[in-house]
Amino acid sequence: MVVAQVWTLQRHFVGFPKLNDFELKDEQLPEPKHGEVLLAAVFLSVDPYMRPYSSTRMKEGDVLIGAQVAKVIQSCNPSFPVGSHVVALCGWRSHYVCDGTGLTPLPLDWPQDVPLSLALGTIGMPGLTALHGLEEVCEIKKGETLLVNGAAGAVGSVVGQIAKLKGCTVVGCAGTDAKVAYLKDLGFDHAFNYKTVSSLEQTLRKSAPDGYDCYFDNVGGEFSSVVMPLMKQFGRIAVCGSISTYNDMAPQKGPYMQSHIISKQLRMEGFLAERWEHNNQEALKRMMAWVKEGKLSRTEHVTEGFSNMPAAFIGMLSGDNTGKAVVKV
Ligand code: NDP
Repeated sequence: MVVAQVWTLQRHFVGFPKLNDFELKDEQLPEPKHGEVLLAAVFLSVDPYMRPYSSTRMKEGDVLIGAQVAKVIQSCNPSFPVGSHVVALCGWRSHYVCDGTGLTPLPLDWPQDVPLSLALGTIGMPGLTALHGLEEVCEIKKGETLLVNGAAGAVGSVVGQIAKLKGCTVVGCAGTDAKVAYLKDLGFDHAFNYKTVSSLEQTLRKSAPDGYDCYFDNVGGEFSSVVMPLMKQFGRIAVCGSISTYNDMAPQKGPYMQSHIISKQLRMEGFLAERWEHNNQEALKRMMAWVKEGKLSRTEHVTEGFSNMPAAFIGMLSGDNTGKAVVKV
């Protein structure tokens, strides 16, 4: 009999999450029955969505939601042989027994030299978010100018790199000088530290004097208010995330953007990557090929130890990560 460790939400977050909002518990698992498998977590993901979803989809005492790459260590289900790896949406758990529903097997031909953790990042949900947001929402075209914020993170870094592959001019920003240097290494045309520039508006104007065709927004709030007047006519805005507001205790107020959206005839569209789930296999193949060809970076921020899940989550929200934040068991 296996005893799993699970991280639970001890109390709802008030403002920025704190370590003592989480509680580590033991959970006795049953022996897998016919059709079931026993999983052991190998890499776990910490993602921004866990913060807003903690209040809308979780109650106190629940196991934190999230994805992991897990190894099948016992199997009564021929679709998931022992030793194979899956992406499992089973939350912050060290072990898990399930009947296979919701498990996505990693391709059998996953290359040995590509870390399995990329299935939680560039060759997983964040990478798909970047690709679909650019292709389906922004409908980005060669020669256009794109702005992406949160640009050194899991989604943002892939957005910028794919836009470069598509022949665009890319402007990105992040919260440290080291991240800005990383963006320049990735080939961004202009990159800046949004925390230290004296004027965000002037910096954005200087980076793209003719304005922006596309804005891939990971941050929302005040930042987006500054961008709206700098969009070109018929610009497209992919509203991917709003991390600058996730810890707010009261909603932020304007300036309001409607007049710019009207006068510039902008298209602003919120999206969830899962809308294009039916395309995942083809999209992930493309992302894997780009990774293997060295066209997409493999940079990750790896925290060691299941016991450090809350610290890794808080660190990601604070900006500790360059590339995807993951926890290695
Ligand atoms: P990241 O890897 O980018 O990690 C979060 C980063 O956000 C931090 O490293 C930090 O970087 C930045 N950040 C934190 N607080 C602020 C703030 N107040 N202002 C600006 N930047 C901040 O996370 P992901 O790539 O996983 O997610 C990026 C965004 O995309 C999030 O908003 C997320 O919710 C959204 N998302 C949406 C999906 C969808 O389907 N729509 C799917 C996946 C993600 P820095 O040092 O630069 O401040």
